[in-house]
Amino acid sequence: MSEGRILFLLDDEAEKTVVRNALGAARCELESLASLDELGVLQGDQPADLLLLRARKHTVDGKLIKAVRKSYASDELPIVFLVDEGDEALIEHCLECGADDFVTLPIHGAELLARARSQMARRRAVAAGRIERERFALAVAGSSDGIWDINLADDALFMSARCYELLGRGNDDGLKSLDEWLALIHPDDVDQFQIELRNHLEGVSLSLQMECRMLHRNQTYRWFLVRGIGQRDGSGKAFRIAGSLTDISERKLTDAMTGLPNRIVLYDRLNQTIVKNRRKSSANFGIILLQIDRFETMREAYGQVFCDAVQKVVAQRLVGTLRTTDTLTIMGENTMCILLDVMRDDTDLVRVANRVRAAAEEPITLGDESVMLSLSIGMAQAQAHHQSAEDLIRDATAALNKARAEGGGQEVVFDPDMQRRARDRLRIEAELHLALKRNELLLLYQPIVNLKTGEVAGFEGLARWQHPQRGLISPMDFIPIAEETGLVIPMGTWVVQEACRQGREWLDQGANPNLFISVNVSSRQLDGPALPEIVRRALRASRLAPAHLKLEITESAVMRDFEVTLNLLKRLKEIGVGLSLDDFGTGYSSLSLLRRLPVDTLKVDRSFVSAMNDESGVRMVEAILQLARLFDLRVVAEGIEQVGEEDLLKERGCDYGQGWRYGKPLPVDQCLQLLQEQARQGARATR
Ligand code: C2E
Ligand code: MG
Ligand code: MG
Repeated sequence: MSEGRILFLLDDEAEKTVVRNALGAARCELESLASLDELGVLQGDQPADLLLLRARKHTVDGKLIKAVRKSYASDELPIVFLVDEGDEALIEHCLECGADDFVTLPIHGAELLARARSQMARRRAVAAGRIERERFALAVAGSSDGIWDINLADDALFMSARCYELLGRGNDDGLKSLDEWLALIHPDDVDQFQIELRNHLEGVSLSLQMECRMLHRNQTYRWFLVRGIGQRDGSGKAFRIAGSLTDISERKLTDAMTGLPNRIVLYDRLNQTIVKNRRKSSANFGIILLQIDRFETMREAYGQVFCDAVQKVVAQRLVGTLRTTDTLTIMGENTMCILLDVMRDDTDLVRVANRVRAAAEEPITLGDESVMLSLSIGMAQAQAHHQSAEDLIRDATAALNKARAEGGGQEVVFDPDMQRRARDRLRIEAELHLALKRNELLLLYQPIVNLKTGEVAGFEGLARWQHPQRGLISPMDFIPIAEETGLVIPMGTWVVQEACRQGREWLDQGANPNLFISVNVSSRQLDGPALPEIVRRALRASRLAPAHLKLEITESAVMRDFEVTLNLLKRLKEIGVGLSLDDFGTGYSSLSLLRRLPVDTLKVDRSFVSAMNDESGVRMVEAILQLARLFDLRVVAEGIEQVGEEDLLKERGCDYGQGWRYGKPLPVDQCLQLLQEQARQGARATR
């Protein structure tokens, strides 16, 4: 490969030969010019690397050099001249006119070669730099990125034309400083941007990289990826930072899989709609959240790829059913949202939901597989209390959760009561944890009367929550929550202990020696094997004989897992405590199962007692009583309020009665009075 192309303009043949020998040996390409006029032609599109001239005293060589310099800069075409030794004035003159170097005569081949090489190397280096710059400029002009640059000494900002284009601005209303730039960044992103910038400048991060929103000239925010890298001085301190700006709105705002707008778009549009409607008296927009039921199961059965494809099909079908004013967005895997920007009336939500459901629930065939889906749908219409997208989405989510809890394939419209109930519940749940610790639970006792003798045979302990602010709370309001949270287990333990302690106390105070105390046991307490041990300990601790304690178990709790419960009941029976089947008649126990249960008492539900005002109601109770006799069970009739009810039950041989006729659930001291009264009467009777 040639070392370079050298043009020479020499008039002396001997000098030409010397030059040829010196440079030709070093594999330079040499071309002799007859006159300067040939220069342009020879330069052509393949530029030479060096021009070699002969400068002579009293000739016009200075002008010659100047002429070349008009067309070619020094780093485009370096000029080296040959000059007679000692002609200092001419050397100075030629250098002034734009020549780059000289060699004195007589020519030393090695020296000439060295100087020529040095000039050609300089030219190449400069040219390479220029190409690099040109390439960079071309890249910037051609790429979709903008380029920016901040001088950190004075925070002066330079942004390329492309930056301004991305921001919808002209060069003339350009940004001059970092502060002006920061002012365009979305308020929610600007702090993070400054943190990222500082981190990089302080050397915490290797580069600046941040996604943020910036205000476009049209007053909307667009998403940008800002990248940058600092230039540092010898001590490592950054003095400049430069980087690029890429518009990523498209990627940022669409769901990669379906190509539909994503949650960012939803929040954005929804917030805009809320602001737009703020001054109106009634808002007429709403959202519909949708989920494919049993999506997880489908994933386990068919895999992720299949599920993605299914979601895509569903999304496409939904789009097909929507009006132009509705927007479908993808909230995340398996959650889609339709924003109904304009609703004609309250039924619009449900109408759109029905249409969407019909479309989505048509069979889907992908490859060899065919599936049928159902959707769970939650809807919320905008109301005055919806101040932000977040609020409305929260309500629609509550409705969606309710729809899912109902087993799928359902749609639920959010109603504000639902939210209030949910809040109340959460509050009760939180406070219930403290209720036990703070001793806020108590037991009231309702008398259970022997219908033959009219005596109080026992009491049913019924839980109450003495809430410091809300007063006495009914078990109907907190037992179900305690059951869901599992709190009913420690609570139930306390009930057993407390009832045993109270029973012992009454016996010690002279109550009827056959007195029994009955307590309710939740199905959750039957889940594990712990109950018999809990009962045993409570009996031991209170020194109460097992025969004085009865456990009430509801029919439905027994039926949940019959065999397991049966085992547990047998173990309880072995302890010697009584077992009652509570709310009898309201469940679905079959006679054959009933026969196997080791219970000794049936508690006939209050609904049967109050239904005794007609013939068929009476017959029903008769049937239950007969059944009990068949299985050798005692019967307690619950909820006796009227004398007539008592009479009917007594006549038909019912053993015990419980209800307001004999007393409501009472505090301990009133029970004691009742017991003492009875003891006095008993003593009088036997006297
Ligand atoms: P339950 O075990 O069937 O208790 C009978 C319920 O009927 C009691 O309601 C009682 O006050 C009410 N009642 C009694 N006689 C009459 C009457 O003549 N007329 C009317 N209208 N009602 C009457 P309470 O105390 O509100 O308890 C409701 C339910 O809460 C109980 O039904 C029981 O299932 C549950 N419960 C109460 N305490 C506990 C407890 O300590 N643990 C568990 N797991 N559940 C409890
Ligand atoms: Mg009960
Ligand atoms: Mg009951």
